[in-house]
Amino acid sequence: MSFLRLNILQSRGYVPGEQPTDPAVIKLNTNESPYPPPPPLFHVLPALSSRHLPPYPSPSGQAFREAAARIHGHRITPSHILPFNGGDELLSVAIRAAATENDTVAYLEPSYSLYPVLTELHGAKPLTLHYEITDSSSSQPSQWRLPADIARTRAAILLIVNPNAPSGHLESLSTLETIATTFPGLLVIDEAYVDFAPTSALSLVNKYPNILLLRTMSKGYGLAGLRFGYAIAQPTLLREIEKVRDSYAVDAVSIAVAAAAIEDQTYAQSTWEKVKSERARVAQALQALGFTLPISHSNFVLARVPPSLTGQRLYEELKARHILVRWWDLPRIADKVRITIGTPEQNNRLLTALQEIIPTSPKQ
Ligand SMILES: *Cc1c(COP(=O)(O)O)cnc(C)c1O
Repeated sequence: MSFLRLNILQSRGYVPGEQPTDPAVIKLNTNESPYPPPPPLFHVLPALSSRHLPPYPSPSGQAFREAAARIHGHRITPSHILPFNGGDELLSVAIRAAATENDTVAYLEPSYSLYPVLTELHGAKPLTLHYEITDSSSSQPSQWRLPADIARTRAAILLIVNPNAPSGHLESLSTLETIATTFPGLLVIDEAYVDFAPTSALSLVNKYPNILLLRTMSKGYGLAGLRFGYAIAQPTLLREIEKVRDSYAVDAVSIAVAAAAIEDQTYAQSTWEKVKSERARVAQALQALGFTLPISHSNFVLARVPPSLTGQRLYEELKARHILVRWWDLPRIADKVRITIGTPEQNNRLLTALQEIIPTSPKQ
């Protein structure tokens, strides 16, 4: 297919996690919310179709911008918000806006596996920075550290997931602030999992013109099927980013549904609290079974399997029991599986299966 660009032909494309259609499968592999979106949302949908579909939607998704600005505080106004068809679309637009084909796109490894793919498809140069990982004993949490000189990275754009995926660990605000001050390019802080974390970088947005925060409705709002994410940044930056995005990028149905969901903070927060308390219970049970893991501030844990097993074997044993978790055959994480925190019932099924697979745990 010589009529296509070589970098497209050479790319493997993004490899998404499995999306099984069998409802009997316990899906702990792609970090969706285990809870449905807020109940009032289902009154929004039937009221929509006749009135909203003939005209083009608000080009900037105004109703969502206003709803999101109301909940964020930190002097975030509607002009600090820009919606996208999922956070993934924002990542693609941010790379296109900041990097030419001769520029460098920097990101960490192990982290979100979409970054290298987007860089490759855009034809820019990748710069991979490496987390320092210490897998300590079962009594000590594993440690993940950013490279000490990360702020001196030379690239057009630097992407950091915080809390990180797949580790779940959280970098401090002061670390991010140091990077924002020194790094001359666009700093994307991917906060896809921030709903489950104690801090966010919201307070840095009005201080640093080069910060672009990514948020999504896929993880904390039970709306991965909707495909809705948004940027938070200074209005001058977003006005430029908006030029790169499609015109009328986000459809009218999505704008109304996402606005209704973000408005119901009481409901959303109640689901986050349930996930966080289950996360603590699952992490403790995994440690008792001989796994080691970093402290997670996310809705998943990355667990290094006990020495009697391999990551692949555990993934397969769980899959045979209709429980899906995520395993990557990649350096430094092949001995680990990433497990999304489910409902208490789903987590019980997971823990029972693990007890079967790991009959003699070191602490029993
Ligand atoms: C889920 C996720 C996103 C965005 O997902 P969308 O479903 O496209 O909104 C972005 N970054 C990371 C690290 C994610 O895990």
